[in-house]
Amino acid sequence: PVRVRFAPSPTGNLHLGGLRTALLNYLLARKTNGTMILRIEDTDRNRLVPGSVDMLINALDWAGIEFQEGPGKGGPHMPYFQSERTEVYRSHADELLQNGSAYRCFCSADRLKHVRERSAKAGKPMAYDRHCLSLSSEEIEKKLAANEPFTIRLNTPEGTTVVHDRVYGKVEFNNRTIDDAVLMKSDGYPTYHLANVIDDHLMGITHVLRGEEWLPSTPKHLILYESFGWTPPQFVHLPLLLNADKSKLSKRSGDVHLEDYMKRGYLPEAVMNFVALLGWHPDSDQEIFDSDELVQAFSLAQVNNSNAIVTLDKLDWINKQHLLRRASTPSGMDSLVKMLQPLVKNAYGDRLSKMSEEHRLDTHYLAGVISTIKDRIRNINDIPNLCSYFFVEPEWKSDEAAALFKKLKKSALKASLSSQYFDDLSKLPDFTATSIKEYIHRFADQHQLKANHVMMATRYIVTGTRVGAGVAETMEVLGRETCLRRLQEQIS
Ligand code: GLU
Repeated sequence: PVRVRFAPSPTGNLHLGGLRTALLNYLLARKTNGTMILRIEDTDRNRLVPGSVDMLINALDWAGIEFQEGPGKGGPHMPYFQSERTEVYRSHADELLQNGSAYRCFCSADRLKHVRERSAKAGKPMAYDRHCLSLSSEEIEKKLAANEPFTIRLNTPEGTTVVHDRVYGKVEFNNRTIDDAVLMKSDGYPTYHLANVIDDHLMGITHVLRGEEWLPSTPKHLILYESFGWTPPQFVHLPLLLNADKSKLSKRSGDVHLEDYMKRGYLPEAVMNFVALLGWHPDSDQEIFDSDELVQAFSLAQVNNSNAIVTLDKLDWINKQHLLRRASTPSGMDSLVKMLQPLVKNAYGDRLSKMSEEHRLDTHYLAGVISTIKDRIRNINDIPNLCSYFFVEPEWKSDEAAALFKKLKKSALKASLSSQYFDDLSKLPDFTATSIKEYIHRFADQHQLKANHVMMATRYIVTGTRVGAGVAETMEVLGRETCLRRLQEQIS
């Protein structure tokens, strides 16, 4: 059975790349009825950012990425925090010391710095010079007796190491290019390489899906598997994420933290859909997937190594499609209303309550707003700004608006947008989009006006804008009272 893991280091926010890794692990687990594990790789104590684990779990939860074993869930391989497993790593490091696959390094930080500078000057990779590999056992005993601090390093064997990657194929590394990496630090904590390999083995991981940036570490991992006499899992490295200008998507270039997307109103299923398509390509032309559909369509065979470009326009488009999907079912609409409520409250708080009409945060009202405007927005967060007239009085008085209004008044409508129009609208038996539309056509006919012009003027009067969704639909949502009040204010 497939067992995969998402193994983040709690060093801050989850970013898009991490999310993609988590998602593809999750999809593979679901597709194969396998198990997904969340393991927290927190052995680099200097890089810890407090609160990261909670943020991470919260983000996975928001995204709908479930795991079966891990923090808060438990499981047969507890604990799932590496910082609580140091005993396991220590005993395994001892095993490597005993079988000669690793050695103690007593070099001081100063000496290591010197070695690095020397290699840099010579234009060589900054590898350790293996000074301590040749210490005699007497020398080692002496240093140990004197309590000299030491690290434990990998004793890289000669030869070549071949990674068979599901995405990158066969990648060969000359072992001479592989540094004798530190496995155990002098503070007693393991490094990533050691802890990662031991846990993947002990936790029965069958497939390692992770970002391409870890591919160069993989030969070290393979050497470790070999040193322990273990069978390595399958490796599946995922292509780098790039900005539109092909630069590496970095935390500094903005737009990478999932939190930002959460705050900006993107729907979780849209973000998942978007992220899934970064590196994975469905068999068909289908572009819009919810999570069940992703599971259906997913296959490792369609993950390829062409670098994945993050195009935010595409995310906006995907978001819109999912927004329309939600708006088409009652429960989906309900969820959109729940997102919109706080946005409206934040945008218009005090000014809302000054309105005489029914409360603008009402569920039914907001559902009406969304249905009316859904074709014109890409994100639920667009609504308060794009159509403030649903929530507060239009600002007819701004210069540009006043000019437009004057022009409309001068037009053929001047004489006709009159008390009759107002009276008729107030008497319409039902104030629905259909009957409003019918009436406007009738009125235009009677007065030899273009229905279009009447609509335009009406739109301006009831919304203060020239563009927007259908006037009649907008009027139905605004309600008779609001529309008549605005007409009265502006016509008289
Ligand atoms: N802790 C590593 C990270 O932060 C895990 C890499 C791996 O999946 O092996 O990405």
